[in-house]
Amino acid sequence: MRAFDAVGIYFGRAADQMDLTENMRRLLLTPKREVQVQVAIERDNGELATYIGFRVQHDHSRGPMKGGLRYHPDVDLDEVRSLASLMTWKTAVVNIPYGGAKGGIAVDTTTLSRRELERLTRKFIDQIHDMIGPDIDIPAPDMGTNAEVMAWIRNQYEKYHGFNPACVTGKPVELHGSAGREEATGRGVGILTLKLLSRLGRKPQDTRVAIQGFGNVGSHTAAFLGQAEIPVVAVSDISGGYYRADGLNVSHILNYARDHGDCLAGYSEAEKISNEQLLELDVEMLIPAALGGVISVDNAPRIKAPIIVEAANGPIWPDADEMLEQRGVTILPDILANAGGVTASYFEWAQNRQHYQWGLNRVRQELDRVLSESFQQVWELSVERKLSLRTAAYILGIGRVGRATVLGGIT
Ligand code: GLU
Repeated sequence: MRAFDAVGIYFGRAADQMDLTENMRRLLLTPKREVQVQVAIERDNGELATYIGFRVQHDHSRGPMKGGLRYHPDVDLDEVRSLASLMTWKTAVVNIPYGGAKGGIAVDTTTLSRRELERLTRKFIDQIHDMIGPDIDIPAPDMGTNAEVMAWIRNQYEKYHGFNPACVTGKPVELHGSAGREEATGRGVGILTLKLLSRLGRKPQDTRVAIQGFGNVGSHTAAFLGQAEIPVVAVSDISGGYYRADGLNVSHILNYARDHGDCLAGYSEAEKISNEQLLELDVEMLIPAALGGVISVDNAPRIKAPIIVEAANGPIWPDADEMLEQRGVTILPDILANAGGVTASYFEWAQNRQHYQWGLNRVRQELDRVLSESFQQVWELSVERKLSLRTAAYILGIGRVGRATVLGGIT
């Protein structure tokens, strides 16, 4: 199955509950625009290298389209399309005035120097600058990209269009970025995890958590949970998993990663396990915070955690999701669980447009408010209609996008 079909299945489960017509389903699912471009650069050694870049603009009925830019060797049109569609439902679930988009370049960034990465980014923006912009489509960081890449995007965009920091979010704080944006996705996962545990009547300190992925999202999630005294017993990155039954020392492991080029390789204060083993640990909560599609029907029967919080986009395939749901596993879906990032992006964009900077406390308070309200709406809908949290979240998102589409008029 392809990633876009998977989102289509989740969409369909909600649409069935909403009695949406076939024509309306087709309208809401079909992306507005998809672009594929050639991105050729000169390597530092003078050789030529050619990459393929994508931007998919899925829906703009609720506002300018919004979504990250991913640099990863697995990036292809299907993946970008599925992630763009997730952004449409995500921005609608948290009710911020955006549509959904996503971009990516199929590239292994570990093979490029910093200068090559900059050239690649600028060349990509040369290809798509006229289809993005603060009122059209606003890129942001995703897997493989960071604040520095966003600074290059802004700079390249401004060469064509003049001063306009709101053209991209996730920028460095020194360059019109926002306080609290970098931590926001992980912090949001943490805020929502606490809300979920409280609704499920579970004590945070008795909830052992395993986090797959220790990039921006996984590491900030671990930091937040550690501070909330939730035992984080395992984390992982490309070097493998690190497990301690009585809980990892989160600040220690965060410092270790920072001092070792954001990599956990060689961390010796924990038992070494594989990424697959981490997913199957006997814990109360599993947080996939890395690539999509990591839980399938093959490993779902071995997953023991009764709660899964989807910090990554699309970590569970629909047939595995069904299997887990039948077993009574509670799943907090990606379109709510990781929405803290795009919510803080909205705050950054709003600050840029007002030429006014917020302090960290204000960003954190507003983030808490937006996510808490959305969580409550999704939770109540799921209880009232006896539906999974995922289907409830989709109903909320699709309802908002559908209403905006109809109100705006289809002519
Ligand atoms: N890439 C992030 C996501 O998947 C953030 C997108 C944004 O801030 O626009 O939600």
